[in-house]
Amino acid sequence: MSHNFLWRANFHFFINSIDQDLAKQIQEKGCPECGNKLHQANYPRSPIGMFPQFRDQYDERLSFCCDTCRKRLTPPSVRFFGRRWYPAPLFIFISALMRGVSEYALAKIKRHFGISVSETTWKRWQRWWRESFMETLFWKQNKGLVPQALETKRSFPRAFLDIFQGTIEEKMCFLLKFLSPLSCRVLQVF
Ligand SMILES: [Zn+2]
Repeated sequence: MSHNFLWRANFHFFINSIDQDLAKQIQEKGCPECGNKLHQANYPRSPIGMFPQFRDQYDERLSFCCDTCRKRLTPPSVRFFGRRWYPAPLFIFISALMRGVSEYALAKIKRHFGISVSETTWKRWQRWWRESFMETLFWKQNKGLVPQALETKRSFPRAFLDIFQGTIEEKMCFLLKFLSPLSCRVLQVF
């Protein structure tokens, strides 16, 4: 799988614009508690692993706060996967690429992406996909989309890439949007 798209500015601008749209949809609905106006109250972020030239596309997680009851509302995101330090495109693409933990695989990540993912981090990611992810409401609602043959291999998120059409860049955009409900705890409920 080619990772060239990660070096294209357009990819990062595009996913930033998806986040802006997702946030706008949330803001237009108003506060779910009292129906009043939501104000922008973004969180500053300094994700690790993103290439310096695109870092400014990842310096804020969009979020809102209700004008009246102060309820905090953080919309789904295709740039940030929960509170992870690595931005979503890197976390998900690397998770899709790596099948097992080995020094060779970690060295390959370092060579291709210029980042050092430690063995501990990688094992944590792997556990998350194999165990925690399987327990999410999101997975329970969406498992029907994945053909049985892919599901039994339990190689996520790679299996999801196979259900989308297009170039690897297009597949990644679909996948990031598809998984975005997981980025804001909405469907992380067990
Ligand atoms: Zn409110």
